Amino acid sequence: MTGRPLPVPDETSAPYWAACAEHVLKLPRCSNCGEFTLPPDVTCPHCQSPEPDFKFEPVSGRGKLRSWTVIRHSFLSGVEVPFLLVDVQLDEQPHIRMVGRLLDGPEAQLHIGDAVTVAFEDLSPEFAVPAFTLADAS
Ligand SMILES: [Zn+2]
Repeated sequence: MTGRPLPVPDETSAPYWAACAEHVLKLPRCSNCGEFTLPPDVTCPHCQSPEPDFKFEPVSGRGKLRSWTVIRHSFLSGVEVPFLLVDVQLDEQPHIRMVGRLLDGPEAQLHIGDAVTVAFEDLSPEFAVPAFTLADAS
C-alpha cells in the first residue's frame, strides 16, 4: 500500500474502477455500435450516439508497446522514481491507447512492439490502477 492519491470514480467511471479493484480490465462498449472506447464520454466517438449507454465488458488487456518514457520526477506522492511509463496499443481494441506504469522496473529492456499485458497496482483495499508488465515471449 502506498500514500498515492486515489482515483475518484464518478457515475460513468465507477464500473471501470470497480473492475480494476478486482484486477479485471473492463472497457466501456457502446450499446449502439459495439465499439470500445476509453474514457467513456457523453457521446460515442465512433457513432456519435448521444445515448451510447456504455456497457463495461472484460477484455484481455494484452497489447503492444507503442512508446515509453522514463519518469524521473514524480508529481504524485508515494511513487518511486524512476519508473517507466508505457503507451500501449491493445491487441483486440487497437484504437484504444492506454498509458500506465510498467511494473518490470526502470531497467527493463524495451522494444517497440514488445508484448505487454495489463497488471494492477493496489493503491488501497478498494482501489487498484491498471499498469502493465512485459508478457512472456513464449
Ligand atoms: Zn457507438
